[in-house]
Amino acid sequence: MKAIVLVSGGLDSYLVVRLLQAQGIEPVAVHFRTPFYKQDKIKMMEDALKNMSRSLGVKLILENLNEKYFQAMQNPRYGYGKNFNPCIDCKIFMFRRAKELMDEQRAGFVVSGEVLGQRPMSQNRESMKLIEKESGLEGILVRLLSAKLFEATIAEQKGWLKPEALLGISGRSRKIQIALAQRLGIRQYPWPAGGCLLTEASFCHRLKDKKSYCRNFLEDFELLTVGRHFRLSPEFKFIVGRNEKENSQLEVFTKKGDVWIEPADIPGPSGLGRGLCGVKEKIISAAIIARYTCSGQEVEVLYKKIPETAAQRFKAKALDEEQLRALRV
Ligand code: SF4
Repeated sequence: MKAIVLVSGGLDSYLVVRLLQAQGIEPVAVHFRTPFYKQDKIKMMEDALKNMSRSLGVKLILENLNEKYFQAMQNPRYGYGKNFNPCIDCKIFMFRRAKELMDEQRAGFVVSGEVLGQRPMSQNRESMKLIEKESGLEGILVRLLSAKLFEATIAEQKGWLKPEALLGISGRSRKIQIALAQRLGIRQYPWPAGGCLLTEASFCHRLKDKKSYCRNFLEDFELLTVGRHFRLSPEFKFIVGRNEKENSQLEVFTKKGDVWIEPADIPGPSGLGRGLCGVKEKIISAAIIARYTCSGQEVEVLYKKIPETAAQRFKAKALDEEQLRALRV
């Protein structure tokens, strides 16, 4: 019997795979790449999953979540958590796809390593039942590490899973999982927590600002992770690179209609402006650039509108700290 196992790459994934194998079940590990995971985390988790797949002989499916996922996260039916994390909708989306994969792979059920009470929004009993129902997995979703705390699923009723394979873990502590890992000889595993940008306060603060002015507020969300951000008007935002790497990253984000400002004769930050840029916005943006040059005083800047190549050159006086703070997002 095959089972689709949703895996993150952390300890819970290893445990679930090993426990299923011990029951003679063939796990097919599935990992969804969400666009909101930080690149370094994605690499760490996927390396761990590839190791797991090799060492435990498990088929691994890595799948990018598509445009539909992106849209669903923009208008989540069940709202957001503490930040901009629409965890319930996110999980419903993933489990629905897991059900499709279950049919494609001719598996009998779906398994996750979720633990009851481990996360406030999506791992309380009510949310877990809701997610199960909305994803069409009622009776065929086994939360293996907490299974004893839920009604028996079809996998148990049909004897595919024996009672001794089921655990009754709850809460945020990982002590039981760590002890179990030691017993099973699992020594190396990463901690995958904390990679989703939608749970990060500073990112979400910028997202909130964008949502106030923009319907498709998740569009170009990666830009929110780069540089210092300033809201100059409801229709205009200016972003300044903090170092050479960010200056180059900003350049990659530019598109037709954006403005680009940089110091004319001295090294310093580059700035990308997006939206309706009138004379006032142009002068303040240039003043922000002047503030972050090494002189921090009056400098000459180059200003151009993308995709124009010819730049205007003019003098800009550095913006004072109070104004700067007032505009910072
Ligand atoms: S933390 Fe992010 S990836 Fe995880 S369930 Fe919530 S929204 Fe989805």
